Amino acid sequence: MSRHVKLFTPGPGDVDEDVLSAMAQPVMRHYGPDWMEIHHEMLSLLRLFYRTGETIFIAPGPASALLDMAIGSLVPAGQKIIVGSNGFFGERLVDISRGYGAEVIPFTALTDQPLDPQKLRQLMRENPDAQVVAFVHHETSTTVMNPLKELAAAAREAGRVVVADTVSSMGGVEIACDDWGVDVCVTGPNKCFEAVPGVSFISVGQRAWELVDAYPSGSAHGWFLDLRTWRKYEQEWGSWHPSPVTLPSNCILAVLTSLRKIAARGLPAHFARYKRASQAVRAGLQNVGFEMFVEDDSASTIVTGVKARPEFEISELVKYLTEEHNMAIGGGLGSLAGKIFRVGHLGKAAEDEYLLDFLNAMEAFLKIRGLEPPPGAILAGLK
Ligand SMILES: *Cc1c(COP(=O)(O)O)cnc(C)c1O
Repeated sequence: MSRHVKLFTPGPGDVDEDVLSAMAQPVMRHYGPDWMEIHHEMLSLLRLFYRTGETIFIAPGPASALLDMAIGSLVPAGQKIIVGSNGFFGERLVDISRGYGAEVIPFTALTDQPLDPQKLRQLMRENPDAQVVAFVHHETSTTVMNPLKELAAAAREAGRVVVADTVSSMGGVEIACDDWGVDVCVTGPNKCFEAVPGVSFISVGQRAWELVDAYPSGSAHGWFLDLRTWRKYEQEWGSWHPSPVTLPSNCILAVLTSLRKIAARGLPAHFARYKRASQAVRAGLQNVGFEMFVEDDSASTIVTGVKARPEFEISELVKYLTEEHNMAIGGGLGSLAGKIFRVGHLGKAAEDEYLLDFLNAMEAFLKIRGLEPPPGAILAGLK
């Protein structure tokens, strides 16, 4: 077995052994009565997190594929889409939209600031023909939590369809798709669902289906990433074969194992776990002289972004943690490379043992650098 590196990355996270063991069961058929039982349990668990009664599809592949499916099925080439972007994953939504030949109306914010619903209202007034608004909820690359509820409410008021990337927030904070007006919502298995990668999830509400149905017939769109393919198979085969393609059944069993555990713990308790871990890391690192990249109000509880310091390069810290402590943290992406590092609170990283190891390793690094952290200060937030 390869060396185990403790993950404090913003995804993937280290998952529990019982989740991994679920992968080692004999391969099941992804259809028939035994599978349908698993499928229905998966759907009812997903509904707890999504809080939606609308269609949910479980599809093989990365979450980005389902963002591709969403935007590509809703926005024909040449039509406008308003795309929120205040980081790397927002930019990905821009790229996906352009990939389908859509005209992107950029809805931006500085990388350490959340997207502003007022600004969205303005852009919607200026672009009455942009029927879709897409944005990221938790921008994992900057650790900014965008105000999903307020943004979706603004879009709903203006009669637009909302596509939300909740890949790194679903399961970590409250989301209520139906109440908030989130029409299409995409998430993945290896952020706050704390399971293994390989399958992803998308909900599609009635208002979004109306737009899908208005998509010009005859436009070239492929097959696998067309929402209509998924609906057709659900309608025609749904009673025994819930997907048009072979499902990664072992991976789904692992996700099921994790979702059952989170549901048993209770969602509020799961959310609180991230909050506690993030507060411990924020307080601890601030006590020894680090500055946070994002103000408390809009900072995520799932990943903490920390600014570089003049005394050392982030690459030196990353190297030290990897070589001396077998730990991985995240660096900055794109324009933030070398400017911030990111500490994930996913999976085991939210547990005391991991938190202690991480904070002690950070303290040891500062000592080696002669920065003399006040004794005990780094652990002060770990109550
Ligand atoms: C991780 C992440 C993605 C990408 O997910 P994949 O499964 O790798 O496609 C997209 N958006 C956000 C916000 C993420 O954190």
